[in-house]
Amino acid sequence: MSKHRPTSESLYQEALQHIVGGVNSPSRSFKAVGGGAPVFMKRAEGAYFWDVDDNRYIDYLAAYGPIITGHAHPHITEAIIRAAQNGTLYGTPTELEIKLARMLKEAIPSMDKVRFVNSGTEAVMTTIRVARAYTKRNKIIKFAGCYHGHSDLVLVAAGSGPSTLGIPDSAGIPASIAHEVITVPFNDLAALEEALQRWGDDTAAVMVEPIVGNFGMVMPQEGFLEGLCKLTREAGALVIYDEVISAFRFHYGSAQTYSAFPDHAAIEPDLTALGKIIGGGLPIGAYGGRRHIMEQVAPLGPAYQAGTMAGNPASIAAGIACLEVLQEPGIYERMEGLASKLASGLLDSALKHGIPLTVNQIRGSFSAHFCDHPVTNYDEAQDTDGERFGKFFRLMLDQGINLAPSKYEAWFLTTAHTEADIDATIEAAERAMASL
Ligand code: PMP
Repeated sequence: MSKHRPTSESLYQEALQHIVGGVNSPSRSFKAVGGGAPVFMKRAEGAYFWDVDDNRYIDYLAAYGPIITGHAHPHITEAIIRAAQNGTLYGTPTELEIKLARMLKEAIPSMDKVRFVNSGTEAVMTTIRVARAYTKRNKIIKFAGCYHGHSDLVLVAAGSGPSTLGIPDSAGIPASIAHEVITVPFNDLAALEEALQRWGDDTAAVMVEPIVGNFGMVMPQEGFLEGLCKLTREAGALVIYDEVISAFRFHYGSAQTYSAFPDHAAIEPDLTALGKIIGGGLPIGAYGGRRHIMEQVAPLGPAYQAGTMAGNPASIAAGIACLEVLQEPGIYERMEGLASKLASGLLDSALKHGIPLTVNQIRGSFSAHFCDHPVTNYDEAQDTDGERFGKFFRLMLDQGINLAPSKYEAWFLTTAHTEADIDATIEAAERAMASL
């Protein structure tokens, strides 16, 4: 059953000589799951990957989220080919950009105006600039464990205490920048209130993943988003939602229009950052928000943001095609059904073998944490058995199941997964749990 990966091993050795760490994003390394060579994939179709040694894997990584329609979906592939045949980059406006902007606005009504960029990182980074330009304030409040890309301001962790000025999470970020960031625990309105009382006069924005995808999948507790919006506005600051993962993940729309939150008006942000799914697997980001706030952006206003590749025809065409697929009725319900079956299978196996497991499922995605307590914030997500996850990850990989190599990442179902894939995954998990 165990997969042999000699070619991945040798390619990794070669990659190490030329590419820093052998990977183009640190999350692709196997550092968090015991080290060694990551698997080099050569082809992907539907729910499957094939590695360079011709082993097949059922994929639940979905490229960290964007691949919601499965790999190489024909509708998206055709759109990309058509776009490429018409020229990959113009440096001029195109009609398709308007179409994708309209689709986003219809699905996410708090966005009166949109701007396309190339990544989630850029989208978030620019929302902060726009918020600062609009409010003429400097500080940002964020939540521990939420990931917002790798720009300076959001790569800042909490210091000690419930509400503290940040410390850089990475070398190369000046302490002076980290001092503009305050980090508080997710789902903790009292901590947010305290931070706003202390620093509210100079707070430009409160930034949050409204449904968290970066320390597992974590729902905001009842009233959290409403309270966050209210407290933030009372302080004269803007609410920024980072929906890079959550938009179009749980339904055709974003967290701010999700049925789990009945009062949409009470949780609407001022600015929203998007990425991942809206590019159908090609590089993209977008940000948008209320007209008078977005009018801060050049060429209308004083906040500068630009991009040679922004709105490139291939990414835009792929994004439109992806959203078209997601408009088919029943898509999200089907992914949810499969995710529920898989989550129950995992929980049954864990129970049978006496392994503590907490599953946080939100429609077609979930996180599985090796712990015996709920996971509602970053501290609780950290307090889970990473070593056991590492073993489980490898046991699954050797049986042809591709998960993200980190205990914090979600399992993503796609429209391509079948009942048979779920059954095979449950059987693999049963064998893995038996030998943990
Ligand atoms: N925000 C969130 C919520 C994310 O999950 C990510 C990426 N995982 C980003 C921003 C950054 O996006 P990108 O990797 O496209 O720069």
